[in-house]
Amino acid sequence: MNQPQETDKLPNFVLDVVKADVAAGRNGGKVMTRFPPEPNGYLHIGHAKSICLNFGIAQDIPGAVCNLRFDDTNPSVEEDEFVRSIQEDVRWLGFDWGARMYFASDYFERLYAIAEKLVREGKAYVDSQTIEEMRAGRGSFHQPGRVSPYRDRTPDENLELLRRMRAGEFPDGAHVLRAKIDMQASNQNLRDPVMYRIKREHHHRTGDAWCIYPMYDFAHGYSDAIEGVTHSICTLEFENHRPLYDWFLDQTPEFDPRPRQTEFARLNLTYMTLSKRRLKLLVEGGHVKGWDDPRMPTIAGLRRRGYTPEAIRAFADRIGVSKRNSFVDVTLLEHAVREDLNARCRRVMGVLRPLRVVLENVPEGQEDAFDAPWFADDPSRGGRSLPFGRALFIDREDFAEVPPKGWFRLTPGGEVRLRNACIIKCERVVKDERGEIVELRCSWDPDSRGGNAKDGRKIKGTLHWVSEKHSLPAEVRLYDRLFRAENPGEEGDEFLGDLNPASFEVVQARVEPSLAGAAPGDRVQFERVGYFCVDPDSKPGALVFNRTIGLKDSWAKQQGK
Ligand code: ATP
Ligand code: MG
Repeated sequence: MNQPQETDKLPNFVLDVVKADVAAGRNGGKVMTRFPPEPNGYLHIGHAKSICLNFGIAQDIPGAVCNLRFDDTNPSVEEDEFVRSIQEDVRWLGFDWGARMYFASDYFERLYAIAEKLVREGKAYVDSQTIEEMRAGRGSFHQPGRVSPYRDRTPDENLELLRRMRAGEFPDGAHVLRAKIDMQASNQNLRDPVMYRIKREHHHRTGDAWCIYPMYDFAHGYSDAIEGVTHSICTLEFENHRPLYDWFLDQTPEFDPRPRQTEFARLNLTYMTLSKRRLKLLVEGGHVKGWDDPRMPTIAGLRRRGYTPEAIRAFADRIGVSKRNSFVDVTLLEHAVREDLNARCRRVMGVLRPLRVVLENVPEGQEDAFDAPWFADDPSRGGRSLPFGRALFIDREDFAEVPPKGWFRLTPGGEVRLRNACIIKCERVVKDERGEIVELRCSWDPDSRGGNAKDGRKIKGTLHWVSEKHSLPAEVRLYDRLFRAENPGEEGDEFLGDLNPASFEVVQARVEPSLAGAAPGDRVQFERVGYFCVDPDSKPGALVFNRTIGLKDSWAKQQGK
C-alpha cells in the first residue's frame, strides 16, 4: 500500500499536464474539462476524486471551465433520480458548472450524422452476424480477429441498412453498425468496434425517438469534441481505448480543439467497495437502507453521516493524482473528517448508554448549574449553562464494579470528576433481582465546583454526564465499517459475504438540553465519544443523531503521532 503522508499534498500530475499546455499556448490557452457521470447510480467518494480533479482544474486555472455532462447513451439504466442526485452532490461538494450542463443524448442527432458520414466514406459497415458470431470473430489477446462476411458491403448498401435500422424496420439485435478499422489489430478495441446497436428501450430524455443507440466508445470521445473539451481526464482502464477515440477523431478533422485524453489511477479505499454495480446490489438487496445510508461510500451517504465537503476536498488533495493504482487506507478519509470537525464542532455532552446516578447529598428538588465553554481551549467562542440536580446520567461504560487495571473511571467507593462540574463519589450500587446494575447511589463534593478538590486530592478520571430532569432523549445511530474485509470479495459477488454484521447499532441516549433546537445537518462533538450529526429523520422533541466518527484517530496513530 502506498500511503500519502498526513499533511503533504501529493502531486497532481494531471494538473501539471494542463498547466504545461496552457504555458505552451495550446488551444490558445483555452482549458475545458468535464465530469462525465453515467446516471445509473449515486456518486461515491471515487467520483469525488474525479470531480475535485476536473472542477479543481477549472478553479485553479484562470479562464478554465468544467462541464457537467451526463453520459446517458445507454437507455436501459438511466433514471431521473440519479440525474438529480448527481447535481445535488456536485453542488454540495462546492463546485459549479454554471450554464454548462449537458447530456450525451443531446448529441444523438449529431452522432448519427457522423455515423452516416463514416458509412459513406467506407469507414463503417452494417454487420448482420449474430452476437455469438461477432464475439467469436473478435478473437482474443492471443488470437487475431476474423473478418465478418458482411464487411465488404458497399457504402450504399450500408447506408440504406443503417437508415432502416434507425427507422425501426429490424428487430433488436438483427444488425449493428461497426467501425471498419482492423480485425488484426493487437489492441482489441480497434477490431471493428460496434458503434450502434438496435435497442427498443425508452430513454429518460429522448423517449422513444430512437431505437438505435450509440455505444459508449463511439459517443464518449465525440461528446467531448462536440463540447470543445480540451482535456478529457479519465481513469486508467480507458488508456487502451484512447487509440480508438483518436481513430474516430482522425475521421472528422473538423473538430478543433481535439480533446487530449489523460488517464489517472482511480481511487480504491480499504474496507469499502466503489463499484456502482455493487453499490446498487447493496441497495436493491436491502443490505443497506438506501443510497444515502450513512455506511455507504456515496456522497449522499457521507453527507448524511456528517462528513463535510471541506473534509472530502482535503482528502482528495492529500491522496494526489497519479498513474499508479493502489488502495488508500480508509483511516486517511476518517482522519480528514475528524480534523475538519475538530475545528468546527461545539463540544457538548451526550450519554449513549445512560446509567442513573443519584446524588444522595443533594436535596430532592434542588437545582444548580455550571457554566461550560463550547471549546475548552477557546472560551471566547462562547458557552452554555449546564443544569445539575440530584439525579444524573453517566455512561454505563464509565462504571466498573470490578475495575480492570489502570481504570480511572467510576468504581464502588471511587471518585471521578464530572466534566465542567464537580467531583462525585460512588457510595453504593443498586441492582435489580437479576443482578443488573440499575442505579448508582453517589455523593458530590460541594467544595469541588469547577472540578478540583479544595484539599488538593488528585482525581484522575473525568466523565461526561447529563442531568436526568433536563436532558433530552435522543436516538443515536452508531455506524461501523460496512465491510469487515480490507478488500471485500475480490471476486464476483462474494463481497456480500464480507459485510460486517455489526455495522449498525441504535442506542437510546440522553443529550444535554442545549441541543433542543438542533436541526438536521447540525454537527457536534459529544465529549469523549465522537462526532455526531443530526439526521433528517429527527422530529421536534425526537432527535436522531448519526455517529460520524469516533474520536480515536487510528491514522494518526499509525503515523506515530
Ligand atoms: P460504471 O462502471 O457504471 O461506468 P463508473 O464508476 O465508471 O462506473 P461513471 O459514471 O462512468 O461511473 O464515472 C464518472 C466519472 O468518474 C468517470 O470519469 C470516471 O473515470 C470517474 N470515476 C469513477 N470511479 C472512480 C474512482 N474510483 N476514482 C476516480 N474516478 C472515478
Ligand atoms: Mg464509467
